Amino acid sequence: MINVTKTFLPPQEAYQAILKQAWDTGWLTNRGVLVQELETKLKGYLGVDNLIAMTNGTLPLQIAIKALQLQGDIITTPFSYVATTSSIVWEGCMPVFVDIHPDYLTIDESKIEAAITPKTTAILATHVFGNPCHVEAIQAIADTYNLKVIYDAAHGFGVRYKGQSVFNYGDVSTCSFHATKLFHTGEGGALFCKSELRDAMYYHHNFGHDGPDVFRSLGINAKMSELQAAMGLAVLPYVDTIVKERQEAVQYYQALVDALPLKTMQLREDTVWNYSYYPVIFENETQLMQVKRALEQKDIYPRRYFYPSLNQLPYVKGGNCPISETVASRIMCLPLWAGITKSNIKTICNIIKTSM
Ligand SMILES: *Cc1c(COP(=O)(O)O)cnc(C)c1O
Repeated sequence: MINVTKTFLPPQEAYQAILKQAWDTGWLTNRGVLVQELETKLKGYLGVDNLIAMTNGTLPLQIAIKALQLQGDIITTPFSYVATTSSIVWEGCMPVFVDIHPDYLTIDESKIEAAITPKTTAILATHVFGNPCHVEAIQAIADTYNLKVIYDAAHGFGVRYKGQSVFNYGDVSTCSFHATKLFHTGEGGALFCKSELRDAMYYHHNFGHDGPDVFRSLGINAKMSELQAAMGLAVLPYVDTIVKERQEAVQYYQALVDALPLKTMQLREDTVWNYSYYPVIFENETQLMQVKRALEQKDIYPRRYFYPSLNQLPYVKGGNCPISETVASRIMCLPLWAGITKSNIKTICNIIKTSM
């Protein structure tokens, strides 16, 4: 079976050697030495100042909305994983969808201003597939209208834009360390923010505790465990290799896909990408379904990332986003992981070619 992704597993002995520290201390929770070590190493690796490890990549979005005290309308992208929209709704705010750019697949910054009303408090956009949003234009709009900016950077691990981590843009950024993501801790995630926001985010992720008996603010439990951190510490030494192997796979895909009538995502200029996904866009949904079925018959399982367009979720008043809707109906991510073979890729592209 060939799946859309395959979780990178570090050598089991390496994981166990790290876990031994937890056994030695008897400490599995509440920001022990492993979580702190992972945070320190990630800050160094990524080049970020403020990073809080969390138990998944969704709670940091909700905590960002809560801690920034956002209310009313939040402008967001319809082309992302459902967590981007559900976090807004879960926190009692209203998602206002602005359509995406047809080539970059990120929110179309030129359409944001028209969607701003007196009720707008923030912009929450996704660096989808690790492709950065037009962060300068978005920041300029946010400054003009006094809005907060949150980036769902779930796919952004290791991505650099204009010479620095993509996590450094916006008031807050979040990442997912889910097992399907490029760097993972099984389940896990992180929040990145400006220094002046760090305390608010920190207290919100740990029940508001400021010492055992003092509560500084409302909070929830989003703490990463020592077991998760141990996986992260075991995976981190391999991240550069993971990215390099994915790069080789993407380049091989690209060479074969170039000969097919498929569209691919345009990477934003000045981006050092992480090769986290390989999405291809078909001419129409019928063609996509035809190819998907042909692949599935050969035990190959691509994924419709991201479908449906989030403005069509049953619990939002989404309006129309024609570009996102058409892209969502025609896009599919091809299998990609560190170590996928050229022969796998050749087989996949041949099936696509013959079933289109
Ligand atoms: C994976 C993902 C999330 C959620 O991350 P979890 O760690 O699974 O909670 C949020 N946003 C996007 C765009 C994602 O792909």
